[in-house]
Amino acid sequence: MSGELILGNFVNGEFVTPKNNLVFKSLNPSNIEECLGEFLATPEEEITDVVSSAKKAQLLWSKKSQPERAEYILKLAKILDNETVVTHLATVMAKECGKPFIECVGEVVEARHMCEHMAGYSRQHYGYMFPSQVDTRESEVLEIPKGVMACITPWNYPMAIPVWHMMPSVLKGNTVILKPSEETPLCAQEIFKYIQKANFPPGVINMIQGGKTTGKFLVENNVDAIIFTGSTNVAQKIQAIAIQKGKTVACETGGKNAMIVCDDANLELAIESTALSICKTTGQRCVSAERVIVMENIYDSFKKGLVEKIKSFKIGDPFEKEVLMGPLINQNAVDKVTKYNDLARSEGRVLLNGERVGNSKGYFISTMLYEMDAEQQRFHNLLNEEVFGPHAAIIKVKNLEEAIKIHNDTDFGLSAGYLTTNIDTARILEKELKVGVGYLNGPCIGAEVQLPFGGLKLSGNGNPSGGYLLNFVVHHVARTRCYGSKIKTAYGIEDPKKG
Ligand code: NAD
Repeated sequence: MSGELILGNFVNGEFVTPKNNLVFKSLNPSNIEECLGEFLATPEEEITDVVSSAKKAQLLWSKKSQPERAEYILKLAKILDNETVVTHLATVMAKECGKPFIECVGEVVEARHMCEHMAGYSRQHYGYMFPSQVDTRESEVLEIPKGVMACITPWNYPMAIPVWHMMPSVLKGNTVILKPSEETPLCAQEIFKYIQKANFPPGVINMIQGGKTTGKFLVENNVDAIIFTGSTNVAQKIQAIAIQKGKTVACETGGKNAMIVCDDANLELAIESTALSICKTTGQRCVSAERVIVMENIYDSFKKGLVEKIKSFKIGDPFEKEVLMGPLINQNAVDKVTKYNDLARSEGRVLLNGERVGNSKGYFISTMLYEMDAEQQRFHNLLNEEVFGPHAAIIKVKNLEEAIKIHNDTDFGLSAGYLTTNIDTARILEKELKVGVGYLNGPCIGAEVQLPFGGLKLSGNGNPSGGYLLNFVVHHVARTRCYGSKIKTAYGIEDPKKG
């Protein structure tokens, strides 16, 4: 894994090199002197060829029964359920995206869980029967696949998110073209080596390497629908193209997530949950907490405990057992987090100073923790824009009502964690917080395959992923069957010329 040109694309069941000279490099963010491989961006003409072969493959694939399609997915689940495979994939992931090795192991397991869930789901009922207003009619809703799905994914979950996009899609009879992040091309290539072993028919699952231009070409090409996970900014560009071309798109994007600590919370649990929500994956999860809303009665003891807990987290080599925080992904991420840290230093009261640590070969940074006033919520960039790094503001509030108001006063609505020992308070928070994923008495991070995963407001567009992506990858069509020899309308008029 050092600096050689790697076969990047997977098309029609084979690895192929794009015919292009646009090389991009995969660097190890813990040591940027280590190049993990060089890849070639896929040019537009090749994307057109991949889309047309995926279209042809879809015609045959959709004719297989759902349990038959699920057999391939189950095979992939079995391939991934192997210690050597997990270790290999987690090692590549820890090197390429800098997450601690143990987190990477968890991610491979999460990918397998989706395969298992889809394989099990294959024999569940689908579609519905409906009563008709007309006594001689019955109606049903059927699911039909959309066709060829473009799946565009971010770097921070480089194996689980692609699998979460692709498996529901292919279960329902679609074929897919994945465009993984240009930050993690090797992760995509390595997991596709196992997808190849699952022997899906040629053209069912494809992958093209490249950056934003390749992604844009794919979205503009003749694909039928798009599944996107990434930043809000890119989602908006993709949605604009999709609307123009009449395609549906499911977007999962960023957040400005919060932890809410009520004055009756279990203090130790609140401190640990909040510290992990801020620092795990070095703050580079879509659900990472960047705001901590704390009631005044518990504020001082909570703040002291949080500072101590975060200080105890080890930053460094993702392969070291005690390390909780690896590096940021790249120089752009360092620049972005530094910009927000500078702003926090000038606008907030600093509790922990976020700064570069370790040697200059790795993008390591410590956590920035600072206090802001509640009135700054609506108007301050620090409390309204996603930083995507270990960076969080603590905000003191008087009561539950103020906590909810502050929490909801952003354009995002992805995740929240809330800590209380009072069942009534918990229920109010569950109903009032405008988020797609909520966590009572725990960190605001984590996902399970069978649940919907997605955000409200700018954090998504109402098509959650996880198991609920199944709703997006099909069209729901109505079919009406009539019995008897007379035409009847639902309005009770028997002469069709009048109804
Ligand atoms: P990003 O938006 O920069 O890139 C995501 C993907 O989009 C990449 O594959 C990239 O090449 C592609 N892309 C970029 N510009 C494009 C364009 N114009 N047309 C088509 N494709 C284009 O995001 P990232 O830096 O890889 O990931 C971090 C972001 O993802 C954060 O905002 C994070 O919150 C979000 N995220 C959201 C979820 C979720 O489920 N809500 C999960 C993980 C990450």
